[in-house]
Amino acid sequence: MPFDFLQHTQYLLIGGKRVPAASGRSFETLDPATEQVITRVAQADAADVDAAVRSARAALDGPWGRMRAADRGQALLRWAELIRRDADALVELESLDSGKPVSAIRRQDLPAVLDTLAYYAGWADKINGQVVPARPDALTYTVREPVGVVGAIVPWNFPLMIGMWKIAPALACGCTVVLKPAELTPLTALRLGELALEAGLPPGVLNVVPGFGKTAGAALVDHPEVDKVTFTGSPGVGRQILQGAAGNLKRVTLELGGKSANIIFPDADLDAATRAAASAIFFNAGQVCSAGSRILVHESIYDRVVERVAARAALVRLGDPRDVATSMGPVISAGQMKRVLDYIEIGRQEGAQIVTGGVRRGRTGFFVEPTVLTDVDHAMRISQEEIFGPVAAVIRFKDEEEAIRLANGTRYGLAAGVWTADITRGHRFVRRLKVGTVWVNTFGPTDIRLPWGGARDSGFGREHGESAIENFTEPKAVWINTGP
Ligand code: NAD
Repeated sequence: MPFDFLQHTQYLLIGGKRVPAASGRSFETLDPATEQVITRVAQADAADVDAAVRSARAALDGPWGRMRAADRGQALLRWAELIRRDADALVELESLDSGKPVSAIRRQDLPAVLDTLAYYAGWADKINGQVVPARPDALTYTVREPVGVVGAIVPWNFPLMIGMWKIAPALACGCTVVLKPAELTPLTALRLGELALEAGLPPGVLNVVPGFGKTAGAALVDHPEVDKVTFTGSPGVGRQILQGAAGNLKRVTLELGGKSANIIFPDADLDAATRAAASAIFFNAGQVCSAGSRILVHESIYDRVVERVAARAALVRLGDPRDVATSMGPVISAGQMKRVLDYIEIGRQEGAQIVTGGVRRGRTGFFVEPTVLTDVDHAMRISQEEIFGPVAAVIRFKDEEEAIRLANGTRYGLAAGVWTADITRGHRFVRRLKVGTVWVNTFGPTDIRLPWGGARDSGFGREHGESAIENFTEPKAVWINTGP
């Protein structure tokens, strides 16, 4: 493993069985570092999605729905144990399919997956209703019931972690899941599904249907027997999902893109701020929804900050993701590499200066050098649009008012950071930044206990914490007539 796992054909996982696609079709998945084909994967379309949804419904009405909540929690903990047992192989498989450095997966993604499972396993038997004393002639109370069959559609930038952010709370709440991984990174989702079966989750509780967005993804969104769609991806697809979900008025949660501002004041600890500013945009090659892609810097320290961020960029170890010393791998695909390089060119044409990077590294693999663009104006496309690559746009501001106006001045509203020694200013920014998460004197940490999500083009609804429990349950009101 992962090479044992890759020995067998990568089939769909439906109703506890590995099955080929009904159409017999399959697609290739590539290693972004070498451009070599890793393996072929069965390609789900509407017929397979329908079979997966039916098996999820049967599990919901059957063994999973009848299981004690505490036993559901135990099943999730057994699953976590198997993920821990197979951690090395999962890390390698994730790295192979996504190009993420093994060191980063081991440090961040895998611990987050285990933490998420443990956290929601604990919730499973603590999802309580309330007695609400509405009237003297009735016992009135609420129970929280699972919302039903959940369609989970995830992107390629954190396949294991974002997948688990959706699956774990859904299962803890008693829902069943059909997971559609991104077509660029289907492998670890399939392996997670196998481990779930080994852990004793009944067949059909977690089905995995790799395939393309327009076919498998859209079929899941359109399916009348899917009760909720939880989606992480781009705003364009988010809009299509809302339209598709209108058919049976599915519940929808959308976690979309970002163009997050990282605001640095002269009174900040500049060493810490610039170190964090660099990792906020170079971590995962900038393919992070909350990447600190706009560094807003007070004009009095602009040159110093640019110099330090560029120096940090020079320290990034761009290369083979399987080398433990590597800190940044390739971007996910040829298409993504072109998009990133095109944006750098657009920035240049708009008048930005390339201080460092700006080009592809090597001829094989989708490696883009860590890039710092200066003299960026707020109105430029590179300042307004999500690039989703290792490209920092450094923008000047004069005063607090301008910093707030620029920070809030894009279509997105996912996250923002502010660096200052002035605690009252920190609090003012917390209040005035129109985003789902504000970091003060740090940038980027997330924790499963805290809500995660955004506003405007960053989507709506919150994952994580108790919010996810609300997402995957529906309260039912009960009246028991007790007479006068
Ligand atoms: P994408 O929207 O192209 O694809 C995401 C998923 O949606 C994939 O599984 C894809 O197959 C599927 N999909 C595509 N078209 C579909 C359709 N018509 N119907 C149903 N499903 C469809 O996004 P991507 O390129 O994989 O990911 C990058 C985007 O995700 C960026 O915009 C990024 O900011 C965002 N993202 C957001 C968060 C967050 O938490 N807010 C986290 C990670 C990534």
